[in-house]
Amino acid sequence: MSVFLYMVEHDRGRIEETALGGLTGARLLAEAMGARLQAAVIGEGAEAVAGEIDPYGPEEIHLVRHPMLTDYGPDAWADSLVQLAASVDAAAVMADGTDRGNEVMAQLGARMDLAMVANCLEIEADGAGDGGDWLMTRVRWGGSLHERARLSAPTKLVTLAPHSTEAAPAPRPGGGRVSMFTPSLDESALTTMVLDRVTVSEGITLATAPVVVSGGRGVGSVEGFTILEELADLLGGAVGCSRVVTNNGWKNHKFQVGQTGTVVAPDLYIACGISGAIQHWVGMMNAKNVLAINIDPDAPMVTKADWAVIADLHEVVPAITAEVTRRRGLARETG
Ligand SMILES: Cc1cc2nc3c(=O)[nH]c(=O)nc-3n(C[C@H](O)[C@H](O)[C@H](O)COP(=O)(O)OP(=O)(O)OC[C@H]3O[C@@H](n4cnc5c(N)ncnc54)[C@H](O)[C@@H]3O)c2cc1C
Repeated sequence: MSVFLYMVEHDRGRIEETALGGLTGARLLAEAMGARLQAAVIGEGAEAVAGEIDPYGPEEIHLVRHPMLTDYGPDAWADSLVQLAASVDAAAVMADGTDRGNEVMAQLGARMDLAMVANCLEIEADGAGDGGDWLMTRVRWGGSLHERARLSAPTKLVTLAPHSTEAAPAPRPGGGRVSMFTPSLDESALTTMVLDRVTVSEGITLATAPVVVSGGRGVGSVEGFTILEELADLLGGAVGCSRVVTNNGWKNHKFQVGQTGTVVAPDLYIACGISGAIQHWVGMMNAKNVLAINIDPDAPMVTKADWAVIADLHEVVPAITAEVTRRRGLARETG
């Protein structure tokens, strides 16, 4: 039975929000292809991650430890993964299609002289048996194109499109064997390493917020964002924006949602004065619910949203804030 190896992304033991979904996708793929799923957790904090991922069903969790693996470094992680893949004779190595996942897997491809297929949505084997081709649908151009591809390689190197599978514990979870793996790393061959860490944002981040209140050109100014910030605070969410907003200097780029910004998948995305251009849409299309507030009933964001209010956002957003505040007050009084 062949082994599929999935690299779990984490930062000193804090698991990346896409990782449990990715691990679930890797497990379903291994089950469909009759393979065994094993997980690789590289660097400091790996033990804590092992406990968290165990319910998601890997039969073995490899803790990859080395003094040079304290922090993330693409070449050190790739060197380690190449050695681990060889030691377990992996038929496939997978990671999430995040910046880091794609970076490490691309390095793996270069080291193993194999093709790497990034951001896969669906994968199936073309025929039975190990070593056959894989047919895959993958995301290109930030999601505006889905491409069918065929991968012929003795070891399949793949990243999975983030959020393409919802995290779900295995039907028979737990009991994954935990083992230690110490790679052989040569410091002189490592070109990048973390020298310092600086925290640039506190609290809820745009990428993980359960609610995103996002503004576009329709907000009109820097000051116009105050009402969006108030609503986001009230709902325990974060503020986002379109590229027009960052181009106009109303918000810093770290707030931008979309193809060239942050990809979000909140429970609720409130798009205020955003037209819904494809480059924006691909950054929030995995939101579970979308509410559009727009004066144009034909704007793509309006026609694709779950709900829409056709009106001036400067009236609608404060009205929502007032109503949520009123209802919470009532709930406290009666509660
Ligand atoms: C290579 C490339 C990458 C890109 N990457 C990104 C990206 O990552 N993210 C991104 O967002 N864009 C990106 N863009 C830009 C994208 O194509 C659009 O230009 C941008 O998303 C439009 O922003 P917008 O919706 O705020 O503005 P507009 O398209 O101008 O839309 C403004 C909307 O506000 C509505 N409106 C106006 N006034 C009000 C009001 N008072 N109340 C309610 N509604 C109102 C209008 O009806 C309209 O629908 C990219 C473009 C390219 C070419």
